[in-house]
Amino acid sequence: MSQTKYIFVTGGVTSSLGKGIIAASLAKLLQARGYRTTIQKLDPYINVDPGTLNPYEHGECYVTDDGAETDLDLGHYERFLNVRTSQANNVTTGRIYQSVIEKERRGEFLGKTVQVVPHITNEIKERIQILGKSGDYDIVITEIGGTVGDIESLPYIEAVRQLLWELGENNGIVVHLTLVPFLSAAGELKTKPTQHSVKTLMESGIKADILVCRTEHEISEDIKRKLALFCNVKKEAVIQSIDASTIYDVPLLMQEEGLDTVALEKLALPDDNTPGLDLWKQFLNRHKNPKSKVTIGLIGKYVELQDSYKSILESFIHAGAANEVMVDVRSIHSEHISKEDLDKKMMGLDGILVAPGFGERGIEGKILAVRYARENDIPFLGICLGMQMAVIEFTRNVLGLDNANSTEMDDNTPYPVINLMEEQKSITDMGGTMRLGAWDCQLQHGTLVHEVYGETAISERHRHRFEFNNDYKSQMEEAGLIASGFNPKTGLVEVIEIPSHPWFIGVQYHPEYKSTVADPHPLFVGFVKAVLMQKQQTNASLA
Ligand code: GLN
Repeated sequence: MSQTKYIFVTGGVTSSLGKGIIAASLAKLLQARGYRTTIQKLDPYINVDPGTLNPYEHGECYVTDDGAETDLDLGHYERFLNVRTSQANNVTTGRIYQSVIEKERRGEFLGKTVQVVPHITNEIKERIQILGKSGDYDIVITEIGGTVGDIESLPYIEAVRQLLWELGENNGIVVHLTLVPFLSAAGELKTKPTQHSVKTLMESGIKADILVCRTEHEISEDIKRKLALFCNVKKEAVIQSIDASTIYDVPLLMQEEGLDTVALEKLALPDDNTPGLDLWKQFLNRHKNPKSKVTIGLIGKYVELQDSYKSILESFIHAGAANEVMVDVRSIHSEHISKEDLDKKMMGLDGILVAPGFGERGIEGKILAVRYARENDIPFLGICLGMQMAVIEFTRNVLGLDNANSTEMDDNTPYPVINLMEEQKSITDMGGTMRLGAWDCQLQHGTLVHEVYGETAISERHRHRFEFNNDYKSQMEEAGLIASGFNPKTGLVEVIEIPSHPWFIGVQYHPEYKSTVADPHPLFVGFVKAVLMQKQQTNASLA
């Protein structure tokens, strides 16, 4: 296929309709028909990337192999498509302006007045086409963040309008996602908000080709006809997107509704083969029919907002399906854990995961949870800060080094068992300055983590500043906590484990970013398996 085709996904009526999931589902269906597809997200906020955003603001910050700190929708894209994303897949207004301003400073605009139109819109158009021009994709789906009509979305909508014109008919289409609310007092579904939102889009010169209508109730043929007539689309292009029990149902629901078929027709692409979704269906089948259940505690401080740990929760779904077990993740606020109620808080947990995080708040609760897991032989996985807490817990309670800490939490600790890398010490900027993205790691032969991965040379994604302090390594190893994975170039410790414990692993990196439906992450699969086995053994010994 010579010409890359573009699909733009816009949203109307309200935010949080799940544009990312619709985009990912459409991409999945097109990919399953053999089209090389990728997805890009344009975010209209002024932060250069979401790396500096509090998780409460915007959910988890997702990290790509090339070290981009991105919107969590990119996680959905990777989990659905099993194709890696990169910096090019997520662009914010901040980045667009930064790039235009840098060009202005370099004199690239030759004395011209730099304006939103054409300079900002041109920059947006360029960013949209970077993936298409790479030659790696037949179809690029671009999701425009925000809601149509927002002031901050205007330059994006204008850029899309221009691009549609430049690309020409059948080379670019618009999928508009709206809400069809049910008014219980009237007992009906209402189409007016959708009509208004399509009209708003029209005012900007864009005609929606396909409407995806989010709804809690079935949309009748009559309502579809009405929506089609008033929104100027064919009836087959009105797609119902009804609430699903899991996001992984959405591709199949969209296929039933014919979303991929209309999209291909509008793009003048052949629609002769049916999507190969057998593996996807097998996964769903295992996910929905578990043979047993385990409860895993997720100890973190951003637990009020589920999106803060999105990739971890999804990784458990993948690993649960792989083990045919339902993983009930119980979120426990680390700030609410105290010595007095530790037993009560940890009661009923078959496994414990201590989550990533930043700053001092809630760390003592995390340390208590690690101790509980270590002393009670409960399978444990510590991720990033969770691994650092495991190291601190061990040095304090096994080595007896009182007040051991990370210098992130206590600059004056007598035992800085986690401290700053030399090259981080001079950095004052917060944005994009951590150890980010994929780094190689060498696993030690014969360790638990080696068994879990089944190989020794791995690469995993990072997002942190502080590191295991190698000065304490031999002391820890003598006492029973070993370093079982290293960065082969720098010698930095990437993995720790306690061989005398049934399953205790801490990783400095983030395995959750790489788990996908097609490729569940070995650490999560291994962890869930260990949790299940331990639970079965405990039950057997109690019987
Ligand atoms: N705050 C820790 C660090 O910067 C851990 C970061 C994380 O958990 N992602 O090293």
